[in-house]
Amino acid sequence: MARTNEPFEGIIMNVRNYRERDQLVKILTDKIGPAMFLVLGARRKNFKLAADILPFTHGRYVGWLSPDKLNYIVTAQETHQFRHLGDDIDANAYATYLLELVDRAFDDGHAIGAWFDQVMAALQLIDDGQDPQIVVNVLEVQLLIRFGVMPEWRHCVICGENTKLMDYSEAYGGLLCVNHWDQDPHRLHLDAKTVNYLRFFATLNLQQVNQIQVAPLVKRNLRWALDKIYGDQVGLRLKSKRFIDQMAEWDQALKNGPEK
Ligand SMILES: [Zn+2]
Repeated sequence: MARTNEPFEGIIMNVRNYRERDQLVKILTDKIGPAMFLVLGARRKNFKLAADILPFTHGRYVGWLSPDKLNYIVTAQETHQFRHLGDDIDANAYATYLLELVDRAFDDGHAIGAWFDQVMAALQLIDDGQDPQIVVNVLEVQLLIRFGVMPEWRHCVICGENTKLMDYSEAYGGLLCVNHWDQDPHRLHLDAKTVNYLRFFATLNLQQVNQIQVAPLVKRNLRWALDKIYGDQVGLRLKSKRFIDQMAEWDQALKNGPEK
């Protein structure tokens, strides 16, 4: 397909220096999903698009898009930086992880449809100061399908029951009702609240959310359950996620005081 010069909406995912004067900028676009852009002269002083290609910037750009080759930004129209994502270490870490996860979940050069708005809404909520772990947990549940894991969250995979007490089974790839817990001794043994949140997250449209608050214990259980599912069923362990885990360990160490 020939290159076409067209407007698109984009979120800057990451930036790295390339050659002496240029940068390679990965952008999540509404038109062709994640895509790599070569920005010529980006490392020169007074480069006119410098502010438009900083990480965690979103906006409207015009570029030469090509589904299978390098892309070029011609100009930026309106851009806006998510300030809080740059300043706050927690928000920054989760937003970085979210974008790395999205980068893994989708192929470069392919449109991602409504996912673009969902990712945009997630970043906006984190930028607004909502709990970044919970926002990211929502996307983690929803992105499972992109990694080939399709949990049945609607009802028990064996009998179709959907009102009884439920637990998640990796072996069955979905929920088991209390009557069928004996079918899988390795079910995750999750509490009812955690299971309810996982089910709720599976279909939650983040564009319709203003505020999410989850109790600390349930947050820990959600973190545990999703780490388990991503470790066992997806087999994904991202660098940006390891950083988040480290921060949690440091937090815990600070609370415990010096080791004795
Ligand atoms: Zn059942």
